[in-house]
This record gives sequence, structure tokens and C-alpha cells, in this order.
Amino acid sequence: MLSKAADILRHAKFLVCLLGAGASVPSGIPDFRSSTGLYSQNVAAEEILSASYFSLYPEKFYAFYKKSMLYPQARPNAIHYTLAKWEAKGRLRACLTQNIDGLELLAGLKTVLQLHGTVTRNHCLKCNGLYDLNYVIEKGTPVPLCTKCGGIIKPDVVLYEEPLDQKLLQLARNFTLKADVLLVIGTSLRVYPVAGLLNYFNPSLQKLIILNKDETPFDREADVVLHLPAEQILPEIDRLVEEQEI
Ligand SMILES: [Zn+2]
Repeated sequence: MLSKAADILRHAKFLVCLLGAGASVPSGIPDFRSSTGLYSQNVAAEEILSASYFSLYPEKFYAFYKKSMLYPQARPNAIHYTLAKWEAKGRLRACLTQNIDGLELLAGLKTVLQLHGTVTRNHCLKCNGLYDLNYVIEKGTPVPLCTKCGGIIKPDVVLYEEPLDQKLLQLARNFTLKADVLLVIGTSLRVYPVAGLLNYFNPSLQKLIILNKDETPFDREADVVLHLPAEQILPEIDRLVEEQEI
């Protein structure tokens, strides 16, 4: 299956990848959806990370957010670096990601669509003033406030109850339609609307490769499915791609 994946990737003319939480796990960022330890005061993480909870209890939101969602020490892993290498070579055209950690950009990837937003960008709800992650970490107790107007600063992360950026989602759909090869890494493909991008996949025109530790609803449509650690598999596939190129 590794050599089949390498063969597909070697012939790819317009490769697009879709990353989920599993791609950040090797960087030490746990997948809060599959984690059981991230409950606070009997309130589910999904409830705390909702727009209504944020507006009602910004202090409690930030206490949880800073403890459970921010990993400023995290560094990209072999998945990000392999993809960045492929993008630099012109093999990869776009990286669609559900991850909010910004590791794709840190690894040097350029065309990154952060569909669920990012913790690295934050804005004042009153005056739209922009703040970086450091400001939120340093001034975020109990709630980070705008230095210009005193307004509450909100992370540019898509919270529960909030829609995704529709322009960005449309752009992601366009990339998905245009791709001749889709490479899915570290997502169960169960979180919508991002998982819905796979509904644009056309098996008669496109190839699909899925690298995820668990099964996904799209496994049967995929040309290659590998339930193995992507951070080990992807560099191995890269090596095979390069061998075949010689
Ligand atoms: Zn402000």
C-alpha cells in the first residue's frame, strides 16, 4: 500500500491535502474530541468552546482555553515538513486544515486554509484591533483586554455555534474539486462541514489517500487507506516517491 500511495503521489498534478487533529498529535497537541481528560466542572469541552459560553463566561472560557487549547511550545512534525517540502517542489497545491495551532505555517507551508481559524490571531470585539498569541497568553488572565479600547479580545477560532468562514469554505471546495489527488491525514472525517468536502470527491476522476489511525466513513471510496502513524508513514512514502523519480 505504501508503494501504491507513492505511485499515486508521484503522478499527482494537483495534490490537495486535508489535515485533522491527528496531524498535530505527534507535535504533542492532544485531540480534545477524542480526549477524556478535558472536562471542567462537569461542563463538556464543546459547551465551553461555544460562542454563547464565551459571551456569558469569558473568564471561564479563557481559563479552559489557555489550559487545554494553547500549546505555544509545540513545533511542526514530519507530516508538516514533508508537506512543506512537497509544496516547495510544486507537488502540493493547497493544505486545507481543521487545526487551529498554526503548525502548517510554522513548517513553511504557504497555501494553508485554516478552516477552523487559528489561535495565533486574535481580535478586539469592539475595535477589531489585532493581537498575537503571546498577548493572549501573557494578558489572558482572567480575560485579555484591548489596550486601545478595553474591549474583550476573542481568538479567531471558529467556536461551536459559529459558522465557518464561507469564503474560505468555498475556496476549500474549489481546491477539492480541482484536485486530482486528495490526501487526508489525521481526521476521522466525521466533523462537518469540513468532512463534507469529501462529498465533492469524484472517484472516477480523482484519487483519494487516507492516513488515519482509525477507520473513516470514506475508507471504502479511497484508493489507499493506511491506519498507521502518519508521521512515520509520510516520510517513508516521500522516500519511495523520490526513489521512483530517479
Ligand atoms: Zn479594541
